[in-house]
Amino acid sequence: MKETNGEKLSILFMTAEAWPYAKVGGLGDVMGSLPPALAALGHDVTVAMPFYRSVWKKYKTQQTDLRAWVLVGDRPHNVMMRKVKRSGVTFYFLDSPFAFDRENIYNHPDDGERFITFCLGTLRLIKAMGQRPDVIHCNDWQTALVPALLKTTLAGDPFFKDVASVFSIHNLAYQGVFPYEYLHYAGLPGEEFHYSRSEFYGQLNFMKTGITHADVITTVSPSYAEEIQTPEYGEKLDGHLRAHSGRLAGILNGIDTKKFNPATDKNIFAKYSATDPSIKYANKAKLMRLLGLEEGENAPFVGIISRLTWQKGLDLVAASIERILELGAKLVVLGTGDAEIEYRLTYMAKKHPKEISVNLKFDEKLANRIYAASDIFLMPSRFEPCGLGQMIAMRYGSIPVARATGGLADTIVDIAGDPDNGTGWLFHDYSADALMEALGAAVKACADETRWREIVLRAMRRDFTWDTSSREYLAAYRKAMERSD
Ligand code: ADP
Repeated sequence: MKETNGEKLSILFMTAEAWPYAKVGGLGDVMGSLPPALAALGHDVTVAMPFYRSVWKKYKTQQTDLRAWVLVGDRPHNVMMRKVKRSGVTFYFLDSPFAFDRENIYNHPDDGERFITFCLGTLRLIKAMGQRPDVIHCNDWQTALVPALLKTTLAGDPFFKDVASVFSIHNLAYQGVFPYEYLHYAGLPGEEFHYSRSEFYGQLNFMKTGITHADVITTVSPSYAEEIQTPEYGEKLDGHLRAHSGRLAGILNGIDTKKFNPATDKNIFAKYSATDPSIKYANKAKLMRLLGLEEGENAPFVGIISRLTWQKGLDLVAASIERILELGAKLVVLGTGDAEIEYRLTYMAKKHPKEISVNLKFDEKLANRIYAASDIFLMPSRFEPCGLGQMIAMRYGSIPVARATGGLADTIVDIAGDPDNGTGWLFHDYSADALMEALGAAVKACADETRWREIVLRAMRRDFTWDTSSREYLAAYRKAMERSD
């Protein structure tokens, strides 16, 4: 049903990731599902992202006749635009082979220059197209210079006049900090290099610049919006965020409930729904066998799907492995990341091959199989802006045991505090003891078949669609448009 509140908005998303074309983590999921949700409400939605090697290798896109040279510092980049229509949304791909025809999408020494090319090239070609958006929704540091460009360099350009900007922080830990010269590479005025705007310990901070200039700033959960204004979670930008808190709001992510649906998921062994969740256990038996784990219907099966980084708290898991196994649980881990965490987990799996399976890769099929097969989903994050894993897990009837931080605290109702409505277990202290207490409670509940079934059904029936949040974004866009006038 189309509901535009009488006003159809034209929204341009700018992002480094959007599923299915590119996904490293939650940003990719969100950019693959929020834009179609807004298009379904009747708005005119486009997404601009880089034309990575992974895109052209796998997807057919259409060449447009839009091309230009953009100057990044003294280096001219030839950029072109390709497009494709998907789920009611037009995806534009900025094609700059020098910047994006590479094996990995991040972690190149010239990432700053690459994403400046993306920002400048996209703005140039959007203008050439003559399609003026009401609002540009920028996401994370890779697109954070756009609000600044709109407010400074492009302020006198009639095409960009009154184009509002919203800047979303998906993870404050990644800020895009580069040498001062990058300010000029982007064509931003020198006076921006001030500690109250974009300067950060002698360097240029892209994320700080976005926070300074966006008409509205959002982050991906209400709790994280509060947390990032404190020194503990603020990643040295808490003071800057406090100074701009009047424009900051937390909007909870949703998930693509069509894509993540155990009743239709082709990746899993046996499809099931909340009317008959017991079929879930066929997935458990098959996956355990496939991974070489000792089968046992009664052994609680604990799943972890995560980037293996400091943020995600896997050191707590590594330190608790023996205690987890003492509970009689089996463990499967899927993820890639820091070498040390990978090493520690691999070592544990070698030591306990029948109890632990460690899979160091990015594999969406295996991910869905784990969501479907596991009884318990572990997310002991140090911090978690929103987290999608726990929501996907609940949708598949895998009960989260998670640290009470950011979006984990906002999306999981703690069974310990609310036994009749709870959908998981939350622990507060960042410690192995706190994790084990919560996991122990979950394992104990899992042994009680009737009680567990009630919990699984409650979790599966939770609403994680974009219905509420997409409307909150529309309100944010309207607020941004009022401010940019
Ligand atoms: P983050 O964005 O911090 O990585 P989220 O929980 O918000 O964490 O999102 C992670 C997303 O990436 C989820 O969809 C999860 O299933 C997926 N994911 C993470 N690691 C892997 C992996 N190794 N293979 C497949 N999917 C993964």
